[in-house]
Parts: sequence; C-alpha cells; structure tokens
Amino acid sequence: MRILLIEDEENITSFIKKGLEEEYYTVDIAETGSDGLNLAMSNEYDLIILDIMLPGKINGIALCKRLREIGIKIPILMLTALDSVDNKVEGLESGADDYMTKPFAFVELLARVRSLRRRGSNFISQLSIADLRMDLLSRRVFRADKEIILGQKEFSILEYLLRNKDRVLSRTQIVEKVWGYDYYPNTNIVDVHIKFLREKIDKDFDTKLIHTVRGIGYILKVKNDN
Ligand code: CA
Repeated sequence: MRILLIEDEENITSFIKKGLEEEYYTVDIAETGSDGLNLAMSNEYDLIILDIMLPGKINGIALCKRLREIGIKIPILMLTALDSVDNKVEGLESGADDYMTKPFAFVELLARVRSLRRRGSNFISQLSIADLRMDLLSRRVFRADKEIILGQKEFSILEYLLRNKDRVLSRTQIVEKVWGYDYYPNTNIVDVHIKFLREKIDKDFDTKLIHTVRGIGYILKVKNDN
C-alpha cells in the first residue's frame, strides 16, 4: 500500500514515514502543494495524508479541491494544527474524507489510515493465485495452507505482484512501489528480494509462481506455457 504524505514539517514527515513503513506502507513525501499535486497525478496512491498549511501558492484546502476536480477519488486524510470547527468543516467540504488535528498519537493516525483504506472503493482483504493466499488484514501469507513468514519488503513485493498478477512488472516499477519514489537504490535490490521470496514461496512447490522476464523484470503467474 502506497501513501502520499504532503506535509512541510520535517519532524512530522519523518515521524509519520518511519511509523507507517514499520507497518508495511510505502510513503512518498511532498513538501509543497504543487509537488504533492504532481506526485498525485503521476503515481497511483492508495491514500493521501494532507497538511493544510503548506508553503507556496497551494495550501491543503486548495489542493484537496483540485485533486477532487481532476477526478482523484482516493481517500484523503487531512492533518493540521488548525482545530476550530470552521477549519474542520472547510477541510471536509473541500473533499477530504477525514480530519485529524496535531498533535496526534501515531496509533490514532494508523487507525484512521486503516479505516479509510477499508472504506476505499478498491479495498480487498485477500489476494490469491493458485494455492497462494495473502490476507491483507492480518498480513499473513499461506501456500497450500502452510504459513509463510515474509520480511517487510518481501511482503510488499509479493502484494504488488499479486495485485498485478499475469502482468510483467519492471524492476523500476517494483522499486518505486515498494521502496518509494524518493529512493533510488540499485535495482539489483529487487533481484535479491525476489530470490528470497522464491525460496519461501516457490522452492518447495511444483507449480512455480514467480517468473523472470529477461531484460525487464518479473511476472506472477501460473505457468502453463513452455
Ligand atoms: Ca504545515
């Protein structure tokens, strides 16, 4: 699950990013309204966390309205130090789905993120292919009823592959989805994690699910050709 965090206060962004990453979310950060708009238009996010007071011409209220105008329907959680009733109403009327005032406890933010995610139109609780099953609520993975324990990045890669099964995903797409937009590792990091994933989900089973597409990346499918 990929979240766009639009917030200019560095202590808050690092606090939220770190906390959400520990919960297996991928977090991209924009520090201005216009950067946030660009990222929201050029990437697929599952949720936006949006601060109201942002530097530059576009504040959070204006940005929220703009995102809705251009048809971005994903849940938006507004985050702000402004806590008057008028501010909350203005935030919700601009198209936000929920509103949280600073300071806040991380557990409350996490609960709201989860709740918004469940309300999102494309929310599903389980992904599967062949006899492999991923439960997104309990974050557990099973293959042929045997539980498979995955590391955080392995889980995120497998989730991305499952959401796009039968489609080739490039190493760059996987890096962007799993490590985030502002992270530029050597794409070999994908190969290393795929190797671990294969050892866990494919090695002991006859039907292999992860396949290499030479020169491009990987595909998750039940192979019935060649
Ligand atoms: Ca701010």
